[in-house]
Amino acid sequence: MASGVSTDIASQPPARFIVGNTLAQKSLSVSIKNSLMTSIFLLLVMLGGLSVMTKIKLSSLQETIETVGRDRLPKIRALGEINIGVTRVRSVAVRIALTATHEQRVEVEKVLTSRTAALNQKVEKFRLGIKEGSPHKLIFDQFVNKWMLYQKYQAKILDQEIARDRKLLSDVVNVETAGHFQAVVDAIDDGIKLADQEADLLIEDAIADSQFYATVLWVVNIVSIVIGLATLIFVVKDVSTPIHHITRSMELIARGKLETEIPYADRTNELGLMARALVVFKRSLIENDRLSAATRTLSELSEWLQSAKSEVELYDMISTVLGDLMPECKGSLYIYANSRDVLEIATHWNGPSRTHSLHPEDCWSLRRGHPYVHGTSEIEFHCDHVHADINENYCCIPILAHGETVGLLHLEYVPQGAETAAEAKSRFADRVRLGQACAEHLSIAIANMKLREGLRDQSVRDVLTGLNNRRYLLEAARRELLRAARHSAPTAFITVDVDHFKSFNDNHGHDAGDTVLRHVGEVMRAIFTDDAVPCRFGGEEFVVMLPNTRIEEAALRAEEFRARMEQLVIRYADANLPRVTISAGVAAFPEAGDNLTEILRVADEALYQAKQNGRNRVELAGGYKPATSAEAVTDEAVIFLRSVMAQAGQRPAQPTQGSRLDSRAV
Ligand code: GH3
Ligand code: MG
Ligand code: MG
Repeated sequence: MASGVSTDIASQPPARFIVGNTLAQKSLSVSIKNSLMTSIFLLLVMLGGLSVMTKIKLSSLQETIETVGRDRLPKIRALGEINIGVTRVRSVAVRIALTATHEQRVEVEKVLTSRTAALNQKVEKFRLGIKEGSPHKLIFDQFVNKWMLYQKYQAKILDQEIARDRKLLSDVVNVETAGHFQAVVDAIDDGIKLADQEADLLIEDAIADSQFYATVLWVVNIVSIVIGLATLIFVVKDVSTPIHHITRSMELIARGKLETEIPYADRTNELGLMARALVVFKRSLIENDRLSAATRTLSELSEWLQSAKSEVELYDMISTVLGDLMPECKGSLYIYANSRDVLEIATHWNGPSRTHSLHPEDCWSLRRGHPYVHGTSEIEFHCDHVHADINENYCCIPILAHGETVGLLHLEYVPQGAETAAEAKSRFADRVRLGQACAEHLSIAIANMKLREGLRDQSVRDVLTGLNNRRYLLEAARRELLRAARHSAPTAFITVDVDHFKSFNDNHGHDAGDTVLRHVGEVMRAIFTDDAVPCRFGGEEFVVMLPNTRIEEAALRAEEFRARMEQLVIRYADANLPRVTISAGVAAFPEAGDNLTEILRVADEALYQAKQNGRNRVELAGGYKPATSAEAVTDEAVIFLRSVMAQAGQRPAQPTQGSRLDSRAV
C-alpha cells in the first residue's frame, strides 16, 4: 500500500508555472521605459515651452529697444524745434527793437505774434505728451517757467522807449535778456539730454534683460539635458535592466532550468526583495525536485529491496540508498533481536551509529508507538539511546510490519555550512517526511526478508542442535565440490557418530539423548568455525564439510573435536551424564571421489573402521596414515628420546601419563 502511495506521488509531474500565451503579457520594464520616455517627452515639451517663452520675451525686448530708439527721435526733434522756435522768437524780438519805421514794426510784430503762438502751441502739445511725475516733466516745467520769465523780459526789448535808446536797448538785449534766453535754451538742452539718457537707460535695461533671459535659456537647456540623462541612466541601470534580468531568470526557472543564477539579490531595494524571494522560490523548487526524485528512487528501491537475497545484502542496499538520498543526515537502522528485548544495529550510513544496541524503553518513538521528531516542540526530551551532544534535529521512526514493530530508523540532521536555523529546520522536516516514506518501504522489505529467512532457516536448519541439516549439506556440498573441481582445491568431509548413543536413550530417557545431541551441536559450532560447515545428518550422525582443506588437516580438526567431546561434562536432571564420545571418519575430495555420495561412503567406511577399532577414535579413509598434530609429534619425540636414554642408561622407558599415543591411535 505504501509503495502505491509513493508511486502516485512519484508519477505526479513536478509543480511548474504555465508560462504561455493564455494571458496577454506586458513587460514591466517596457512600461517603465515607456513612462520614462513620456516623462522625458513632457519635460522636453515644458522646457521647449519655456525656451519659446524666453525667445518671445527676448524678441519683445528687442522690439522695446527698437521702439525706444525710434521714439526718442521725435521727442528730441520736437525739443529741437522748440529750441529753434525760441531762437526765432528772440531774433524777431530783436528785429522789432531794431525797426526804424512804424510800418516795419507792425509788420515784424505780426511775425513775432504768430511765431510765439506757434511756439506756445508746440510747447503745450509737448507738455501734454509728457508723463506726470517723470523727470522729463520736471525739466520741461522748468523750461516753461524760464520761457515765461524770458517773455517777461522780452517785453523790455519791445518797449519803444527803450528801443530809441540804443545803449539801453543794447544792455537789455545783450545783458538783461541774454541770460534768461540762455537759461531757456539750456533748459531745452537739458530736456534733449534727458530724453537721450532715458532712451539709453531703457535700451541698457532691455539689453541686460535680454542677456539675463538668454542665460536662463541656456541654463534651462543644460539643466534639462542633465536631468534627462541622469533619469535615463538611473532608470536603465537601476530599474529597467534589473527588472529585465530578474524577469528573465524567473522565466528560465519556471521552465525548469533551476541552475539559473538570480542577480541583484544583494540589493536593498524592492528589486533585491524580489530577487531574494525568487532565490527562496528556486530553492523550494530544487527541494521539491529532490523530493520527487527521492520518492521515485524509493519506489525503485522497493523493488530492489524485495529482491535482496539475504539480510546482509538488504541492509547494505538500505545504507547505500538512504545515505545517497539524505546526504545531510546520519542514519542508523536497528532491528529487534530474536529475543525481542533489545534492538541491534543492522546498518548505518554517513557516519558511525550512536549505539550498537538499545532497549525499546530507551527510545520515545518505541515507547509511544509513533515517530518521534525532536527539535519541533517546546516540550521535548532526548531519547536515552542518543548522547546529550546530539544535534537537536533528530528523529526516530519505528518500522512497523504487519502491525508489529520490527525495528527503528534513526536519522540525525548534520547542520550544513551556510544555512540559518530556520532553513535547517525546514530541510530537516523534509528529511523526516522522506524518512517516514523510507520506513514504510523498509518495513515491508525487512518483514519479507525475515519471513523468507525464517522459512529458509526452517528448511535448512536442524531445530534440536541449531546446526544445518542434511538438506543444506547436500546443497552446499554440491556447490563447493563444483568450485573445488574448478580450482583444483581439496575439500574434506568428516562423518561423526556418537558412540553407544542408544544407551543414553535407554538408560536416561529420550530427553537426555536430546540433551547430548544439543551439546554435540554446541561443541561442533565452537570447533568448526570459519568456512567449515557442520551439519546434523540424521539421528546421532553428523557431517562436517571443510572447504580448501586436505585430509590430514581435517583429521587434526576431527581429533580436536573428539578430544573436546571426551572432556565434556553434561549435566542432566541434577546429575552428570556418562562421558560422551564420538567416532569419526575422514575422507577428502578428490581422492575419495568426485561426488558427495561417494566421498561420504568412503568417510563412512573410515567411521566404521573407527567403531571397529574401539570407538572414540578418528580414522582416515583410503589407507592414509593418520596425520599427527604438533603435540603428537612432540609426544613421539619424547618417547623416542626416552627409549634412547633408557637403552643408554639401562633404565626402563616410562610412557608419559596422558600421552595420546598411549591411550589411542588417531
Ligand atoms: P554405536 O553407534 O556406537 O554403534 O552405538 P549406537 O547406540 O549409537 O547405535 P545406533 O545407531 O543403533 O543407535 C542410534 C540411536 O539413536 C537409535 C535412535 O533411537 C537414537 N536416535 C536417533 N535420533 C534420535 C533423536 O533425535 N533423539 C534421541 N534421543 N535419540 C535418537
Ligand atoms: Mg548411528
Ligand atoms: Mg552411534
